[in-house]
Amino acid sequence: MKLASLQAAESKLLLHTYERNPYLFVGGHDVYITDDQGNDYLDLLSGIGVSALGYGHPAVQDAIQDQSRHLLHTSNLFFHERTVELALRLTEISGLDRVFFCNSGTEAWEAALKLARANAGRLRSEGKQCGVTFLALEHSFHGRTMGSIATTHKAKYRDPFEPVMPGVKFVRFNDIGHLREMFSDEICAICIEPIQGEGGINPVSQDFFAAARELCNSTGALLIADEIQSGLGRTGEWFAYQHYGILPDVTTIAKPIANGIPMGAMLCTESAALSFTPGMHGTTFGGGPLACAVAIAVLDTIRRDRLLKHVADVGSYFKEQLTLLAEQHHSIVAIRGLGLMIGVELDSSENASFVSAQMMEERVIINRTSDKVLRFLPPYILERNHVDIAINSLDRTLALLTQAGKPPTGEQIHG
Ligand SMILES: *Cc1c(COP(=O)(O)O)cnc(C)c1O
Repeated sequence: MKLASLQAAESKLLLHTYERNPYLFVGGHDVYITDDQGNDYLDLLSGIGVSALGYGHPAVQDAIQDQSRHLLHTSNLFFHERTVELALRLTEISGLDRVFFCNSGTEAWEAALKLARANAGRLRSEGKQCGVTFLALEHSFHGRTMGSIATTHKAKYRDPFEPVMPGVKFVRFNDIGHLREMFSDEICAICIEPIQGEGGINPVSQDFFAAARELCNSTGALLIADEIQSGLGRTGEWFAYQHYGILPDVTTIAKPIANGIPMGAMLCTESAALSFTPGMHGTTFGGGPLACAVAIAVLDTIRRDRLLKHVADVGSYFKEQLTLLAEQHHSIVAIRGLGLMIGVELDSSENASFVSAQMMEERVIINRTSDKVLRFLPPYILERNHVDIAINSLDRTLALLTQAGKPPTGEQIHG
């Protein structure tokens, strides 16, 4: 069988960085991804928040086809038309002024970290006080490169690679007193995911976010919002910070931007952007014509099809249905999130692991993160009838828990 031989070959050829689930996908349409036997799976994870327009979307296919007939790469030594077209759209929807393009989430985050250090240096050169220390939050996740792991809270991501970048302190999540205590003119930036993804779908509180904004204003340190998972429509607004009415100095985006073609970007204010001068930062592939063309198609489709409103509507319906389910199933401890970024915390990691594996058996893809939290990051084109399918599957699965007492542990998808 094809899957078995692939598994055997991969186990010899690849580094063992992933524990893959034993499924082989070959295609997809709308919100369904299709395996090699022709079975459709309702995808409520969309490649960890990437395939926002689902599978086989004509706007994405046309953009790839069209751009591939013109130009795939120019290098950043020359101009091409798509960069500005995309940057115009991104600055318009974000309220920020300038864009740096790169190829992944962690690379966008590294750009933000470097910008914060450069900004601090610029402030010092103007005679102001600004140190080099970052404040990040407990349960944060910012990526896998050296700077990103240094600002990521979970020890298992950092410890094997010590020493990581020095100069990071962690603040207790939503603890304003702790934030104020840790802040000083030694701090060059406060790093916040407005809604933590990997950490278990934890929205930062209005007061905490506002306090961070105010502290940064008091010294010129940068407020950096990591919107790699929550940004670009996922929560029903273009950026999660827009729900709070707070504008950060810097934000990072990636996952859904080009629906699966790798791309990331860092956006910032005019004043923060002054800290980078030619030669200080760059990347070979960043902002290439293909990725930009696809990202333009994604943003234009979200706007044309009014998907922000759709995400908000279907997201509230999803949460309502989950709330009803929680009345019947006491293994549900909490339901969190906004739009189509939803977390359902269960009473144990065993139960969460069992539920995600069992739903996969029913051909519904979800994910477990932070041990106990079921994570839903479906495509933005999800409809209510898909929510009903998911809720029914979850209902059946949770019923097995109550009957069986302690279920067997199963497979899981790692975020
Ligand atoms: C996924 C993610 C990253 C890392 O993005 P990569 O493209 O995997 O490097 C960083 N921050 C957040 C909030 C993420 O969800």
